[in-house]
Amino acid sequence: MAEPRGRVLLADPRGYCAGVDRAVIAVERALEIHGAPVYVRKQIVHNKHVVATLERRGAVFVDETDEVPEGAVVVFSAHGVSPAVKAEAEARSLHTIDATCPLVSKVHMEAKRFAKDDYDILLIGHRGHEEVEGTMGEAPTHTQLVDGAEDIATVQVRDPEKVVWLSQTTLSVDETLATVDSLKARFPGLQSPPSDDICYATQNRQQAVKQMAGQCDLVIVVGSTNSSNSVRLVEVALEAGARDSHLVDFASEIDEAWLEGVGTVGVTSGASVPEILVSDVLDWLAERGYLDVETVKAAEERLVFALPHELKQRRTALT
Ligand code: SF4
Repeated sequence: MAEPRGRVLLADPRGYCAGVDRAVIAVERALEIHGAPVYVRKQIVHNKHVVATLERRGAVFVDETDEVPEGAVVVFSAHGVSPAVKAEAEARSLHTIDATCPLVSKVHMEAKRFAKDDYDILLIGHRGHEEVEGTMGEAPTHTQLVDGAEDIATVQVRDPEKVVWLSQTTLSVDETLATVDSLKARFPGLQSPPSDDICYATQNRQQAVKQMAGQCDLVIVVGSTNSSNSVRLVEVALEAGARDSHLVDFASEIDEAWLEGVGTVGVTSGASVPEILVSDVLDWLAERGYLDVETVKAAEERLVFALPHELKQRRTALT
């Protein structure tokens, strides 16, 4: 057994959120019902391990629907798609299963409603992210992306009294509030969304990291580099006082050198990360003397989403 070197603070909540859980189960059920291959547009969730596991079971990940054979089954990912993508799929007679997270769909509805009322929409988010592309697609003529200081300074609106901000669901809460403050300095009439667009899972995981970061010499975040909420957790850890923080997909990516002089290691994971990957990290740390694990709890999560209706209808039809 390794010499004791320090302790681990384990964030709670961490890992799978209700939207990711639903999306992964949707692909599994689609494979059970329709058999392989089941096509999935984009990564169903932004996690290498999840994607590789589903690929082994017969899921085929594609970038666009035109790569899917006519009439085949295609699942839309948790990040959502624009109406144009849905129309393309329909034109190709694809059998679609929409695994868009209901909390992303809620932002789509907001975008549609504000566009219908002829508002200018300032969407705070990351350029090129699939969720942002899907939301912008709901109201392309009314929406402008705000991604960083340059956009804040240069964005123009038609009527400063008729402008609203919306956001990607997986941003840093603090950074988004700062962006909104800066936008309000330019447009004092800027309206806020009817409820938080940054989802409960993103907020809770950031809160748990904030609670423990000040006590941590190192915070290890398990997640993939294309996972927005996972990348934000590293930033939040550093801002909240952690001496060092790294993102890893797997325990094997941890560098022994990161542990030099480290007494307390914080561990958390993004919303698309299965718990087995966190267990692997805890085992890796235990082998190196970080045996005591203390949970830092920030919130209780009980939310579960119903499966996409296309799967429910199909299951009813089969029974
Ligand atoms: Fe839905 Fe939030 Fe999970 Fe994204 S991170 S899938 S918005 S619950």
